[in-house]
Amino acid sequence: MNVGFIGTGTMGRPMLANLVKKGVAVFAYDVVPAALQSAVSAGAKAVASAADAARHGDVVVTIVPSSSNVVSAYLDTGGVLDGLKRGQLCIDMSTIDPGTSRRVAEAVRARGGRFLDAPVSGGVPRATDGTLAIMVGGDAGDFEEARPILGAMGTNVIHVGPAGAGEVAKLCNNLVAGVAAVAVSEAFRIAEGFGVGAKVLTEVIAKSSGNTWVMEHMHPVPGLVEKAPSNRDYEPGFTTDLMAKDLGLAVTAARELRVPVFVAAAAQQVLRLASSHGLGRKDFSSVYRFLRPSSPEAPV
Ligand code: NAD
Repeated sequence: MNVGFIGTGTMGRPMLANLVKKGVAVFAYDVVPAALQSAVSAGAKAVASAADAARHGDVVVTIVPSSSNVVSAYLDTGGVLDGLKRGQLCIDMSTIDPGTSRRVAEAVRARGGRFLDAPVSGGVPRATDGTLAIMVGGDAGDFEEARPILGAMGTNVIHVGPAGAGEVAKLCNNLVAGVAAVAVSEAFRIAEGFGVGAKVLTEVIAKSSGNTWVMEHMHPVPGLVEKAPSNRDYEPGFTTDLMAKDLGLAVTAARELRVPVFVAAAAQQVLRLASSHGLGRKDFSSVYRFLRPSSPEAPV
């Protein structure tokens, strides 16, 4: 089995490394030479364009940052469509807006290909272990065909529904995680102000109704969870900018559906502010750093 793999960044690199470990021949492409080089050091062969990746692959996998990158990777000159073979299966694992995902799926189908949206959750640790959660939208038969490839990268692989449904599930999940990151950071700042230690508060919340994956795995306070980005000066992990993007996708989707959303929009703006204060490329748990108290002399 050959896979054309496009987007070899933070997530793509460990994901393709797991394909290589399973004996898959990976033909990789990234617009950034350093990212492509890191894919080569993980065992992939470099190719010159997304179209070339499609030409070499039985299946195409894409994992790039945002909707516009997916459109570009598939539809630009030298993109996947230029190298697409009849009946070829494309699996986009990026987190993007469901509407764009459906449009790209349509463009792939119009050229005789097949398309699944299959965004992931679990971050770099689970991408490295091959234990990502993968939520898939698209045809059930295509999903079954993709299972072995997805199974090399993730353990919880769920068919959610038709085209775009994987992206919808992913946005809903990240709405919860993004809001939780802000809430956890606020809670630990308040506790600190009252002299309640972060360690004991973690023990309390872990056994109480406020427990959350974000606190268990991405604890914003350094020194409490060994693998948390906060212990590496908030090196990502999952960047503040990507989480702000995902909350924005959730807010936009909600607006189109006339669903009122308030906390998702508020959390998105907090993350945007953190980004504009220099934390955009840090892990999203660095929002804790941003939410430090102002001067004790400030009026309350
Ligand atoms: P990243 O920025 O580290 O890597 C993305 C790579 O895609 C980069 O190397 C970039 O150069 C490349 N790229 C962009 N446009 C391209 C194009 N047109 N053709 C070829 N390569 C292109 O981002 P990431 O953290 O790996 O995230 C990728 C996707 O996975 C995002 O949609 C993100 O929301 C999602 N995701 C990330 C995490 C995480 O923890 N980082 C977790 C779950 C989901």
